[in-house]
Amino acid sequence: MDIRQKVDLLCRRMYDAPQYPSQGAVLFVDLEQRTTRRKYLSIEVLRSFLGGRGANMYLLYNLLQEELDALDPEIPLIFGSGTLTGSMPSATRGNFTSKSPDSYAILDSNAGDYFPAFVKRHGYDHLVIYGQAKQWSLLKIAYDQIEFLDATPYSGLDNLDMASAVERDFSCTERKDMAMARITSAGENLALCSGIMGGIKSIWARGGAGAKMGAHKLKAIVVLGKPIEQEERAALKAHNKVIGKKITSTSVIKNALKKVGTPFLYKPSRVLGAMGALNNQQTTWHASLDADNFDPYRPGMDGCFKCPVHCRNQNDMLPGGKGGWGAAALKGLDGNASYDKAQAQVEHQKLRTYRGIHGDDVYDKYDKGDGPEYVTLGKFGPLIGIKEPEQVLRLNNILNDLGLDSASTGSAIAWAMELWQRGIISEKHTGGLDLSWGNYPVIEQLLFMTARREGFGDTIADSARAVERGRYPAEALDYCMAVKGLFQSDPHDARILKAFALGLSVATRGMDHLRNRVTLEINARINDDPEFKAALYGGTVSALPTSYDGKENAVRRCENTFAAGDSVGMCRFNTKLFNSPTLPDCEDFAQQLSALTGVPFDEAKVDESGRNISGLEHMLNFRLGLRAKDDTLPKRWFEEAIVAGPFSGEKIDRAQFEELKGRFYRLTGLNTEGTPALAWHEQLSMTTTGFAVRVDLPRALPGAPENAIVIDEPVSNVTELRRELKRRLPEAAADLDDKMLNIAVNGHMLLAGEGAAALASGDRIALVPIFAGG
Ligand code: SF4
Repeated sequence: MDIRQKVDLLCRRMYDAPQYPSQGAVLFVDLEQRTTRRKYLSIEVLRSFLGGRGANMYLLYNLLQEELDALDPEIPLIFGSGTLTGSMPSATRGNFTSKSPDSYAILDSNAGDYFPAFVKRHGYDHLVIYGQAKQWSLLKIAYDQIEFLDATPYSGLDNLDMASAVERDFSCTERKDMAMARITSAGENLALCSGIMGGIKSIWARGGAGAKMGAHKLKAIVVLGKPIEQEERAALKAHNKVIGKKITSTSVIKNALKKVGTPFLYKPSRVLGAMGALNNQQTTWHASLDADNFDPYRPGMDGCFKCPVHCRNQNDMLPGGKGGWGAAALKGLDGNASYDKAQAQVEHQKLRTYRGIHGDDVYDKYDKGDGPEYVTLGKFGPLIGIKEPEQVLRLNNILNDLGLDSASTGSAIAWAMELWQRGIISEKHTGGLDLSWGNYPVIEQLLFMTARREGFGDTIADSARAVERGRYPAEALDYCMAVKGLFQSDPHDARILKAFALGLSVATRGMDHLRNRVTLEINARINDDPEFKAALYGGTVSALPTSYDGKENAVRRCENTFAAGDSVGMCRFNTKLFNSPTLPDCEDFAQQLSALTGVPFDEAKVDESGRNISGLEHMLNFRLGLRAKDDTLPKRWFEEAIVAGPFSGEKIDRAQFEELKGRFYRLTGLNTEGTPALAWHEQLSMTTTGFAVRVDLPRALPGAPENAIVIDEPVSNVTELRRELKRRLPEAAADLDDKMLNIAVNGHMLLAGEGAAALASGDRIALVPIFAGG
C-alpha cells in the first residue's frame, strides 16, 4: 500500500469538522501532486495521545512504510503543534516527526520560537507532508489559503539570507506577521546532521530533520499573516496566571535561566567531573568556559512566542557591541554545584578582548548572534578541545546559519578527532585536514564543508553512519558516542548518574536527554528528603546519584511528564522535574486542556497519555527493527572509569545496568524486547489503527518473548496475516515459514482453504504445531 492509499484509509477514520473547540485541522500535503486535504482527528486520539508529539506518533503509525529508506518521500514528514501551544505561558512548541535518516529510530524533534504558534493560530494542528516536489518548493499557508510556490530562487541560501529573502519577497517580518520553518544548504545536500530552522537559532535539530525535508524538495513552510487572536476562556486565563507565576518565581528560572540562559549548567558539570571532554576520554574541562566568561558579549536575552522567561542569551562580539547583561548573576548560587560549594563564589572577570577571529580587527556576520545553549557550548567546547569563549560563540553563530544540529555535528567532529588521535584515520581520510583537538581554523572550515558535503565534510555529514557508509573502519565504532545511531544530545557524561544513563539508553529517539532526564538527581535538597523524593517520582529512588536502586521510578515519571509536556506544547525548561519540582506539571496541563478543549482531563489521565505516547514510540521503533539490545550505552561507559572529580572511579556496571533496564521495562509495561506487552499493545492498537488480532505462537520466537504477538495493521485473511507476521518478526521468518504450523482462528483449526479464511479485528489466532505420523 503506498502513501496515498494509506492517507485515504486514514482519512476515512477522521472527521470533516472540529471535534472540540480550539481543534485545528490536519493538513495533508502531497508535494508531488500539489494537492491538499483537511481532516480532523477524533477525541479519542486527544484522550490517548494529546496533540503535538503524541498525535504525530498516531499519524506516523498509520502512515509508515517501515521497509522504505527514511529519505524516501513516501515516508511522511509530520509537524504537530502542542494542544496548548500559544494558549499557556511557555507553551510555544511543536514537533517534526518521521523515520530518522540520521539514527535507526524515529525522528522526533521539538522546537519553539514562533512557527508552532503561528501554525496553530492559522487553523492547523498538524501538517502531514509527503511526495517529492518537482523542483525546490515553498509551501505558503495563509489561514485557509494554501499555495505551492517555486523556491528555486532560494535554493542554496542559508538561514540568515533565507529569512531576509522571504521577508523582502513577501513584504513581511518574521515573528510579526510571518513564521517560517526552512532548511539551509545542509538540508538541501541531505547532511544527516542538519535540522529545520525555525528562527535565527531555533532548530528542529535531532534525527536529521533537515535532510528529511530536503528529500521532499521542500525549502520552506511559510505561515503568512498575523496569528489570529483567540478569546481566552475565563478558566484558562485564571489558571494561566497561576502557571506564569509558578514559572517566574522558580529560583533557577529567575536567577539563572532568565539572566544567562542554559550555559549556567557548564560549571556544575565540570565540577562534578561529568563533562564530556575530548569525545568523553576526559570528564572535566577548563573554567574559561564558565557562563560568566560570556558576560562581556551578552547584550540581552530573547524568547519564544509570549514566553515570560526569555532564556535565550544573545551574543555580540562586534566593536561597539553591548555586553554585560546578567553579569555576576550566578555569584553565590551553588545550585547543582553543591558538591563543591566554594565554586559558587568564584566569579570570572573576563575582559572584552575579541578583535576578530584572526585578531586583525576584521569582523563578519558570524561575530554576532543568538546563543549558545549549554549543548552547543559543551559540544563545541570541551568535546572537541576548544577553550576560548569567543571561538565557541563564533562556531555557534555559524552552526545557526548553516542549520546544523550542534549535538550531532559536534559529536561527529569529536569522534573523527579521536580517530585521528588514535591513528585510525589519517590525512588520507581527511583530505589533508589536521584534526588535532581544538584546531579552531579547521573546525570552522569543516562546518562549511559539512553543509556542502565537500571533502571530509561529506564524512561528517554522514554523522554516526560513517562506518556503515564505508568512511571509517569498523573499529571506529568503539569510540562512537551514540545509541540507536544517534549521537548524544547533551555534553553530560553519565557514568556517574545512573538515572541519566538509563534515560539515555531507553530514550525513544536515540541518545537524548530531553526525553526523560532526571535532572534533579543532582539536587542535594531532594536527595536528603527521601519522602519528598519518593512522592516526586511515585516510588522509592535511592538518594545516591551513583546507585542503581529505584532509578527506574524516576526515569518513568520524567518520561511520562515530558511526553505529555511536549504534546501540549510546553517548553521542557519550564516543566516540572526538569529544572525544578515546583514548575507546571500534569495537573496544570490537565486543567488547561479541560478549559481549552472542553474534554475532561485530570492529572492521572495526562500522566497516562505520556506513557501511551512513549509506548507508541516503542512500537514504532520495534517496526524499525530496534530491540532490547539497542537500549544500551556506548562501550566506553561500561569499560572505562572516569578519573576526575568527586566521583572518580565511576563507570556503568553491565549486570546492574541490565537489571535496572529490566525493572524499567516492567514498570513501563514493556516486554523483554522493549515493546509494549500484549494487553497494552492491543489497547494502543485499537486506538491507533482500529485493528488488533493476537497471534499465539507455539513457543517464544525471536522478537516475541511472550509466546504471542499482536498484529495491528489491518489484514483481511490468513494469507495477509502470514505475510504480516514475517514483516513484524523478520528475525523469526524461518520459524514462521515452518510447514508444520497450522492456524486456528478463535479455537477452530483451519484444515483447508486456509489462505482465504477471513479475519477480523479481535480474532484470536494460534499457530499450532501439527503432529502427524504413526
Ligand atoms: S523558556 Fe526559553 S526556550 Fe523555553 S519557551 Fe521560553 S524562551 Fe523559549
